[in-house]
Formats: sequence, structure tokens, C-alpha cells
Amino acid sequence: MEEKIRESTLLGKVVIKGSIYVVTGLRIGGPTTGLKIGGVDQPVISDAFGKPYIPGSSLKGKLRTLIERKERVPLNKKDKEGNSIGHECDDEEKYNKCAICKIWGILGTDKIKGVPVLTRLIARDVYLDETSITEEMKKNLELEWTEIKMETAIDRYKGTALEGSLRTIERVPAGARFSPMEIIYNVYEESDEEILIKVFEAMELLEHDYLGGMGSRGYGKVEFKDIEVFWNKKEDYESGDLNKTKINDNFTTPSEIVKNFEEIKKKLTADEK
Ligand SMILES: [Zn+2]
Repeated sequence: MEEKIRESTLLGKVVIKGSIYVVTGLRIGGPTTGLKIGGVDQPVISDAFGKPYIPGSSLKGKLRTLIERKERVPLNKKDKEGNSIGHECDDEEKYNKCAICKIWGILGTDKIKGVPVLTRLIARDVYLDETSITEEMKKNLELEWTEIKMETAIDRYKGTALEGSLRTIERVPAGARFSPMEIIYNVYEESDEEILIKVFEAMELLEHDYLGGMGSRGYGKVEFKDIEVFWNKKEDYESGDLNKTKINDNFTTPSEIVKNFEEIKKKLTADEK
């Protein structure tokens, strides 16, 4: 097992840039404590300027959940009550073969029996592009950047609204754009180039799922657009010459990238040898 002995050295970083478009109202919940303008029961998470944003952790976590379900890995990670909350390899042999744990990492662990566990994927917070909220849209918004919806909790068995359950819910309106998105993928070994496709597959799955809450009520459909994928070799960080090698040609959506991944991957490797 050569791989095991070798210290983890960085070969380079793949930088994925782009925008996240809100297709149906997006709701990533923020803290409900404290006062918020508008007095909504369930506010969205907002930045220091009071504008909604997409936390990198929400994006990364959702991508992981979706790929875990697709790959049918064992959901062996449990919370304190013993409920299954996801997958994490606990064994070196499994870890070495597990693209998900290699890409998304294992929380709170940096080694499994002496083998370094690295996190390859970093997702940054994505901020609202103010220009995407047009003057026309603003006329229909209850708050400066967001809309307020009234929702009732539904009785699952009767299919009717639960009495007294009307709540005000804040969400980012359809048409909003979060940009620039930045996702970093660290390449430590050659096989990392192969598994990078999982990141784009997960993005593709997210477009057919939902981000944030209340997806069952139609919230949270998003699309990734204008994607640019750059390959920065380790040496590029020494010369400061970054984001010069774009490797995704004109394939700017997750599905186009997945479809043409072999071609894109070649550019990732070609530079290296
Ligand atoms: Zn795993």
C-alpha cells in the first residue's frame, strides 16, 4: 500500500466558480432568537448587512447528503439519540475506497489508524448579488431583500391545516442570484482527479432536489450557472499565477460537466506530468 505511507502532499487545487440561481423561494433558516425587522416567526439566515446568504456549510452538507443517498453507502453515523444522520467510514480499508469520505471528510477526525484523513472539499459562503433583486421585484417584497409567506403546519394524517399553526416565513424570492460561489477541491493524489466527478454529480442532484427548508412545499429549487472550473497546480501558488487554467471549456452547468467529465479531467492531468 504505497498510498498509505506517502505523506499527504498537495498536488493542486481545483477552483469551481459560478452562481446559484433561486428558481423557487429559498429558505435557509436563521436564528429565531432576538428581534428582527418585520417580526417574522421564521427568518432566513442573513449576513452582517442583513442580507440573506447561503452558508457554505449548508451547501456542502446538502451535496453530501444527496450523494450519500445516490451511492447507497451505509448511513452509520448516529446522533446522540441513536438516529442515523449520515455516512462516515470508521475503518481504514473502507475509507481508502470511499469517494464520499475522501471528498467531504470525516468530522472531528484527522486519522483513521494512522492514515491521514483529509478534507478535499471547501465550500465558501455565497452572498446575495444585490443586482438580482430588481426594482420590479422589490415592489412585491415585504422586506428589503426577501418575501414573507404565511404557511400552516399540515396534519399529516388528516391532510388539513393544524389549528393555530399559521406562521410567517421569510424566504428569498425566485429570481434571486447568489454569486460568486466558490468551491475549492484539494487534489492530494492522482485518484482524486477521478472522484472529482462526484462533486458535480452532487450539484446535479441538488438541482433536482432542494436547498434549505420546506422542499416538500416547493421551496428551494436552485440552479448552478456560469460555472468555471480552474486547475491550479501547487507551483502556481508559488508563482502567484492563479486561476489561469480553465478546464471546463464551455460546459457551464453541472450536467454538462458530468457529461463531458472525461475530457475535462484530461486537462487536469495533462498539466501535471
Ligand atoms: Zn465513507
